[in-house]
Amino acid sequence: MAHLVIKDLKKEYPSHGEPLQILKGIDLELRAGDNVAVIGPSGSGKSTLLNILGTLDYPTSGTYTLNDIDPFALDEDELAKFRNANIGFIFQEHHLLPQLSVLENVLIPTMATGKPSKDDIARAEALIERVGLADRSLHRPAELSGGERERVAVARSLICRPSLILADEPTGNLDRRNALQIGELLLEIQQAEEMVLIVVSHSRDLANMLEKQLEINDGRLTTPEQ
Ligand code: ADP
Ligand code: MG
Repeated sequence: MAHLVIKDLKKEYPSHGEPLQILKGIDLELRAGDNVAVIGPSGSGKSTLLNILGTLDYPTSGTYTLNDIDPFALDEDELAKFRNANIGFIFQEHHLLPQLSVLENVLIPTMATGKPSKDDIARAEALIERVGLADRSLHRPAELSGGERERVAVARSLICRPSLILADEPTGNLDRRNALQIGELLLEIQQAEEMVLIVVSHSRDLANMLEKQLEINDGRLTTPEQ
């Protein structure tokens, strides 16, 4: 069962003078079935926080455990395996591979450990159907709309049954209707599969769909005023 705990997490970036303090002590605990929105102005550290939770970047200090494991204590190979098995990512720039079909793109995370199995392919097909793209399975990204591409990214993030889904501005390029549909889809799947979902978004509409809203303010997480 998903369980995420961060304590007094800080992140500094070196700069010409004093280091830039971006995260100044973040505490958060989330369990399977929790979903939260993280909002805050551009440059406040939302992506920095998400990248650390995704183990793509290291904190300067503080602790992070996901499912009782400290990912930063793992060596590089173990960390890559841990990340692949536990964490699904959805980015605004969906990072689909242009030469691959929808089905192949959804299967990419399964290929880290070799060829996709029959089960992987069956799950990919089921997810593609779930996100409403059953009749687009052989299309390439260029043959899809922006909303459809984001749906592919949603399906891809779920293929390895992660316990944590991290979405960074997943609907930033979409119109309001498509954005809300993606939000509904993410919540539906997150609830059905009992994952932890963290969505960074500029959109109040999207943020308000989630159970809990948190704001990054001067390097700390606060509860926003509605
Ligand atoms: P947000 O996602 O909230 O818009 P980011 O987390 O991307 O903000 O960035 C927060 C701040 O950290 C910004 O001021 C940015 O310039 C700085 N920053 C981000 N990444 C780096 C980096 N690799 N090196 C130095 N500074 C960085
Ligand atoms: Mg960002």
